[in-house]
Amino acid sequence: MQKNSTTMRHHFCRFCNTELRHIFVDLGMSPPCESYLRIDQLNQMEPFYPLNVYVCANCFLVQLPEYVNPEEIFSDYAYFSSYSDTWLRHSETYTEMIIERLQLQERSHVIEVASNDGYLLQYFVARGVPVLGIEPAANVAEEALKRGVPTLMKFFGRQTARELAAEGKHADLLLGNNVLAQVSDLNDFVAGMKILLKPQGVITIEFPHLMRLMEENQLDTIYHEHFSYFSFITAEKIFAAHGLILFDVEELATHGGSLRIYARHAEDPSHLVSQRVTALRTREEAAGFTCLAHYFSFAEKAKETKRKLLEFLIHAKREGKSIAGYGAPGKGNTLLNYCGIRSDFLDYTVDRSPYKQGKFLPGTHIPIFHPDYIKQTCPDYVLILPWNVKEEIMEQMAFIREWGGQFVVPIPEVRVLP
Ligand SMILES: [Zn+2]
Repeated sequence: MQKNSTTMRHHFCRFCNTELRHIFVDLGMSPPCESYLRIDQLNQMEPFYPLNVYVCANCFLVQLPEYVNPEEIFSDYAYFSSYSDTWLRHSETYTEMIIERLQLQERSHVIEVASNDGYLLQYFVARGVPVLGIEPAANVAEEALKRGVPTLMKFFGRQTARELAAEGKHADLLLGNNVLAQVSDLNDFVAGMKILLKPQGVITIEFPHLMRLMEENQLDTIYHEHFSYFSFITAEKIFAAHGLILFDVEELATHGGSLRIYARHAEDPSHLVSQRVTALRTREEAAGFTCLAHYFSFAEKAKETKRKLLEFLIHAKREGKSIAGYGAPGKGNTLLNYCGIRSDFLDYTVDRSPYKQGKFLPGTHIPIFHPDYIKQTCPDYVLILPWNVKEEIMEQMAFIREWGGQFVVPIPEVRVLP
């Protein structure tokens, strides 16, 4: 069945329903970035969808219209969280902090939306705090069940929240990391959180911070799976519209710069709004996030980032250098497709996830191998696609220096690392 939004000329804000008239950035046509290809699929047609991002003139939500049906993207999602050491450490530290801060114990109930393979909830389970994960992707939800994390295989929204509430399941802590951006029906999702939260419960949500995306040219964090890109100011408006108050916020280094927001019911006076909330709001206002013109500055930065990366790659190839990629993250696919980088520049890429090894990147058809393959081919340059975890990768792959190999990052601008 054809979705209306793919055939209609007009798009409307997924939060406030204002007609979207202003382009934030246009990254051209790209395949869904997690659709890794098997060898027998290489000669077939591949769907490409626009990566044309809008900003709403009313609420300033930066957003990608629903060009791709979410069920199509998320039903066999390849991203297993457990494969990143950095992310696991981040999750364990969070667990310790939040258990202490909210005094969670064996009578508390922690619910995580988009709980993936249970990588985070496992730390609560280990500390005896009862949990429930909600995860729509069957293949990753099954992994969670195997490691002893109770998981409901469902999309989250008002309906799922009401079903759980009817069974008496409410949350003392309701959390969602890197899911808010991936929600197509934003209002349904946040309304669901309101329903599932106990009267004095706390919500924590982490999402990439639009301010950092714009400051650091993170154009590759834009992909079809990411429908929305939030400033703190806009996030605050969305939660307020559903009776939830953001009472605290932390700035995190994860995913190139994220926010962790803390929300409570508007009716619950138990947490005062922290100074950090006012401070961040003020900083965003000063940076221009309440003026449409500020958002228009990004498009030219994206083009310049592309030109610089291509300049480097062309120069390296003219000098006869060999270049391999490291990682096959979604963000890599946006970057490679936008810049038109195929195996003419990158011989191959490698990834630790066995799910991706032996497959090919969508669109560019660059082959994905096991990381050990780098030892066999000794490339002059290794282009780190998941630049947000570059320290971890440079440590694991330090041996490339034995043959004079060098690491390169593409973002915020192309750079050979010392
Ligand atoms: Zn809007």
